[in-house]
Amino acid sequence: MKATLTVLGSGTSMGVPTIGCDCAVCHSSDPHDRRTRPSILIEYGGQTVLIDSTPDFREQAIREHIRKLDAVLYTHSHADHILGIDDLRPLSFRHKPNKLPLYARAEAADFIRNMFRYIFNADYKFGGLAQVELKTIDGPVELFGARFEPIPVIHGDAEIDGFRFGSAAYLTDHSDVSEASLAKLENLDILFLDALRHTPHPTHSTVAKSLRIVERLKPKRAFFTHICHDLPHEATNATLPSNVRLSYDGMKLNFEI
Ligand SMILES: [Zn+2]
Ligand SMILES: [Zn+2]
Ligand SMILES: [Zn+2]
Repeated sequence: MKATLTVLGSGTSMGVPTIGCDCAVCHSSDPHDRRTRPSILIEYGGQTVLIDSTPDFREQAIREHIRKLDAVLYTHSHADHILGIDDLRPLSFRHKPNKLPLYARAEAADFIRNMFRYIFNADYKFGGLAQVELKTIDGPVELFGARFEPIPVIHGDAEIDGFRFGSAAYLTDHSDVSEASLAKLENLDILFLDALRHTPHPTHSTVAKSLRIVERLKPKRAFFTHICHDLPHEATNATLPSNVRLSYDGMKLNFEI
């Protein structure tokens, strides 16, 4: 089945430009250097699946003219990946009397349920709530004829999920990828990897480290995401192999799901 992937956000948790920063990338006039928080949208067969709802979701949805959402998958419960939940409201209302399904692994689902207690608390009296329901990921998630396979990755001290769907995989936020997970990432057309910056970081991958994953897995195309203000778009791309590029907000890719 033909599918389109749209990069809603390619930036790290603080976004680029970063508040109060005077660096060259934060003041760049290249629109590729404006990076909202990390998220992608996948469209196929008239269905729309979102991975992560960031604090920038509203701006991203308006920019990309998102008219409907059919499911949301969460990689983990860090603020930069979940804080847009309340802005799912306008897109959740069309699901009434049903609810927009959100999928997350058990510990992330618990965190989200606790953090957004007012949404999931039947006693909340003020109405206008996002019409969403949380489902636990405990294996591949079948959505509208496509299979989203969770790919566990190491994110500092935690294990979180990336996802493989058809010929594409999206691995945001990882400091390491186990052999067992690498084995699930063969024969990819598109591979997204965390590449925060060049300097090592305890919970994120670097450009060099993610390039080693690309060399090992040999996807047709690789794209880096969760990028901080250390990496100017044009200048960094010029140093990368031709099948590897920094992703950018608004980037669209076609693939088979
Ligand atoms: Zn993150
Ligand atoms: Zn900066
Ligand atoms: Zn994270």
